Amino acid sequence: MDQKYDLDELPENTGKRLTGDENSEKLIIIGSGPAGLTAAIYAARANLRPLLFEGFQDGGIPGGQLMITGLVENFPGFPDGVPGPQLMQNMREQAEKLGARMIMEDVAEVDMSTRPFTVISSSENKYTARVLIVATGATANRLPLESEKRLWGRGVSACAVCDGALPIFRNNPLAVIGGGDTAVEEAVHLTQFASKVYLIHRRDELRASQAMRARAESHPKIEILWNKVVDEFIGVNQLCGLKLRDTVTDGVSELTVSGAFEAIGHKPNTGFLKGQLETDSQGYIVTKPGSALTSIDGVFAAGDVQDPQYRQAITAAASGCQAALDAERFFM
Ligand SMILES: Cc1cc2nc3c(=O)[nH]c(=O)nc-3n(C[C@H](O)[C@H](O)[C@H](O)COP(=O)(O)OP(=O)(O)OC[C@H]3O[C@@H](n4cnc5c(N)ncnc54)[C@H](O)[C@@H]3O)c2cc1C
Repeated sequence: MDQKYDLDELPENTGKRLTGDENSEKLIIIGSGPAGLTAAIYAARANLRPLLFEGFQDGGIPGGQLMITGLVENFPGFPDGVPGPQLMQNMREQAEKLGARMIMEDVAEVDMSTRPFTVISSSENKYTARVLIVATGATANRLPLESEKRLWGRGVSACAVCDGALPIFRNNPLAVIGGGDTAVEEAVHLTQFASKVYLIHRRDELRASQAMRARAESHPKIEILWNKVVDEFIGVNQLCGLKLRDTVTDGVSELTVSGAFEAIGHKPNTGFLKGQLETDSQGYIVTKPGSALTSIDGVFAAGDVQDPQYRQAITAAASGCQAALDAERFFM
């Protein structure tokens, strides 16, 4: 990875280079998923008067990825689970009650080259802020099929760790689509619940690391279907199978499954940053380990946009808290 900035230097700079347009916002938070709203809750309590862009359509809808989820069973504090949209509504209400101000718009552009930073919304309104928290999440890549859209959340998902344990998937055959490390991890995770897991890969060799390949190939519950792509998700109101096409012979077959998990990568929502922050090779914002500090002093990142590994609501919320505390320290 191309390390353009020495992140170890950042704490030394903190708070010393604020040039002040005193009329500018203290803190703008971009994103209203668990990371952005948790950051808003902490920042509001710290009197930073956060202004939060909730987003609209560019990198998902206001409230983020949990708005398109059913029951969330693994967020602490809800013994019976909580519907994703309800959880996000609760977080939003809490942030607003504490004083966070919300704008339901996308951020189209940010200028981090001068201070205060400039934020331009999609309706071309201009804001300035002395500190920014970027919490714009990541978007799961999805197969561009009409049947996929129709059965999304009805047996089709992009997160085995999130949804795999749901009752509809237990003791049933399931499929994972993909061939990288994440796909293999998801397949192995699902073996705890499924009667069998099919790993569907379009090539004749997995992209996953050697160790992960060996794990998939030797697992008694995993069968790899080589050279196959999904042509159609079958089912009316609930997924019951897949129509597969062989990429070598062009032959078509059907596979009975009650769940299909797409593991074909994620795209961090960083387009509006136009390369101003250091990112890794996949486009995730690089943060200094154990903090929310980015390559630019006064800009912090939280949630899935800087986390290629865990991508859970609780880890996003936790890093939102870190970002707000780091922001608060920036003003001390
Ligand atoms: C189908 C599905 C089910 C899941 N189930 C679970 C589960 O059961 N448990 C669990 O812990 N996790 C689950 N997850 C993962 C969880 O949703 C994410 O880890 C979490 O939402 C990440 O939070 P975040 O705040 O980083 O980003 P997100 O939730 O992705 O929110 C990003 C926010 O940024 C906004 N945004 C993006 N671009 C812009 C822009 N240019 N301007 C302004 N705003 C912008 C979006 O509108 C959105 O509000 C699931 C994910 C999916 C896809």
